[in-house]
Amino acid sequence: MHTPSIEDYLKAIYKSEAEGDITSRDIAERVGVSAPAVSKMLRRLVELKLVRIHAKTGIHLTPFGQRTALQTIRKHRLIELFLVRELGYRWDEVHDEAERLEHHISPLFEERIAEKLGHPDFDPHGDPIPTAEGRMPEVEEIPLHTAEIESHFVITRLVDGDPKLLQYAASLHLLPGATIEFHGRQPFGGPYNIIVGGEPVALAPEAAAQIFGRVSPDGGRRGARRS
Ligand SMILES: [Zn+2]
Repeated sequence: MHTPSIEDYLKAIYKSEAEGDITSRDIAERVGVSAPAVSKMLRRLVELKLVRIHAKTGIHLTPFGQRTALQTIRKHRLIELFLVRELGYRWDEVHDEAERLEHHISPLFEERIAEKLGHPDFDPHGDPIPTAEGRMPEVEEIPLHTAEIESHFVITRLVDGDPKLLQYAASLHLLPGATIEFHGRQPFGGPYNIIVGGEPVALAPEAAAQIFGRVSPDGGRRGARRS
């Protein structure tokens, strides 16, 4: 499809760095390119002072690289929300569109979108939008399948890259802000048992791994006992 740009690499490195150590393979997977393509690009990013590579600690964004990554992520997430709110896109349609548009809008356009949307904190999938100053709001969250059994779990975000997953989640009302009861997994690697809006649902493990949130403070075992 489209050739990944420098900004795509910076976003991939930023997101990998947030999850721990980065390998060229992580980057290759996120960007969707081969390992040799990553090595070549990494040399270029080092020359441009966007990335530094340390013999012991590996691949890191420089402050300049980090700023650029956060600006691109900000544009991406603002565009997604703009498309949903103002242009009537569905939430599963906006990620690919934003992947393209994020490289082309001007700072003024970005500012006007933010204004029009009332300087929002989250995109349609629940991802936090970095501030104009390039600060990423901190969100405490865990993947759904690691929640304590019989807890009440509030969804904060869903991974946004797969339209099929988002359609599936929406059909089950698994949206940011929704509270679900988590009852653990069926034996032999089966689905997860959850209750959404009073309805029991067998949730596919692959989907459960893409849903993030936090255990609701008032929704521990006390709340779950009703079921
Ligand atoms: Zn997206």
